[in-house]
Amino acid sequence: MRAPADPRVTWDLPAPGAMPRTADLEPLVTRVLAPNASGMTLDGTNTYVVGAPGSGQAVLVDPGPDDPAHLAAVEEALTAREARCVAVLVTHHHGDHAEAALPWGDRFGAPVAAADAAVAGPRGRVLEPGERLALAGTAIGVVGTPGHTADHLAFRLESGAVLVGDHVLGRGTSVVTHPEGDVVAYLESLRRVHDLGPSALYCGHGPELTEDPGAVLDFYLAHRAFRESQLLAALVRGAGTVDALVADVYAEVPRALWPAAAQSTRATLAKLAAEGHVVVDGDRVRLP
Ligand SMILES: [Zn+2]
Repeated sequence: MRAPADPRVTWDLPAPGAMPRTADLEPLVTRVLAPNASGMTLDGTNTYVVGAPGSGQAVLVDPGPDDPAHLAAVEEALTAREARCVAVLVTHHHGDHAEAALPWGDRFGAPVAAADAAVAGPRGRVLEPGERLALAGTAIGVVGTPGHTADHLAFRLESGAVLVGDHVLGRGTSVVTHPEGDVVAYLESLRRVHDLGPSALYCGHGPELTEDPGAVLDFYLAHRAFRESQLLAALVRGAGTVDALVADVYAEVPRALWPAAAQSTRATLAKLAAEGHVVVDGDRVRLP
């Protein structure tokens, strides 16, 4: 099996580190980039300010790190939209998306809504997949996208754009965490977002994907299948531990990302084991 080609290589996307701090993506959406760039967060966390122009209101999606410079940039974006924050939505519980949710919710007097009750907090709201939220003069659909984490949600806007959190990243591929994540659920979630026919994917990290979102989702599905075939091939070659599999399959990836690769590998092995294709015993892995 050949490595599937990433359709974005021919797109005109900003180079890593070259994303603007604040960008108006469409009338409904302004994006504010948090100053927390890293190997795992790419350019940094994207915070989205969403609302109908003229409504005087906006929703924050993924406030990100509780950082004063980031807060100032988000408040500036709210002011530019002549909007006050009426709710804080969170795609999943990871700190790079959720840390500022409760403190900023308090600051703005706005409820926090998320699938994870701990993220939503005592005065917040626990979201269910399939809900439709009427907020800030617009409708926001809640789309269940478990896989990266168990609580992961995406948010579909009236424009057809989908805010996908870490389900899909603007560059490269995402991680299925282990033991919380779930590869089977992740694949179903990719198909679910694909079936929405999104006009754009606004990712938790990296640039917006507008040219052909469906092709990126197809690539993500093909990439997962390719990783499975690589793991099975590495086992045939004699790799017998999770570490050996990671060293084999992720040889071309910087070592700093191997811990994340090991999580995705364990998550994929759990799927292959459930299907009877491998036997996993702690760190040891073999073909049946
Ligand atoms: Zn993230």
